[in-house]
Amino acid sequence: MTLSMAIDLEKCTGCRICELVCAYHLYKNFDTRFSAIQINFDLFRIPIHYQIKNQCDLCQELAIPMCMSFCVSECLHLLRG
Ligand code: SF4
Ligand code: SF4
Repeated sequence: MTLSMAIDLEKCTGCRICELVCAYHLYKNFDTRFSAIQINFDLFRIPIHYQIKNQCDLCQELAIPMCMSFCVSECLHLLRG
């Protein structure tokens, strides 16, 4: 069984907190260019797409991935494949 992160973009507010905490988790900084999760927006700042990059380690040392813990919209979830 493999796990991966997924976002329900219908619920996503585009706050980008997931990007901030992921950059901190991986690289101990808040530079979202280093984040494994990336939210993309349209011209009206509506989230329309996301990417989970290869460096995502699913926060395996944590009971709940950091991005999921901090997402107030609860739109992040783990997919089992
Ligand atoms: S923290 Fe949640 S609501 Fe905010 S941008 Fe990330 S997925 Fe969307
Ligand atoms: S699970 Fe961890 S490494 Fe993966 S996107 Fe979320 S915070 Fe980043």
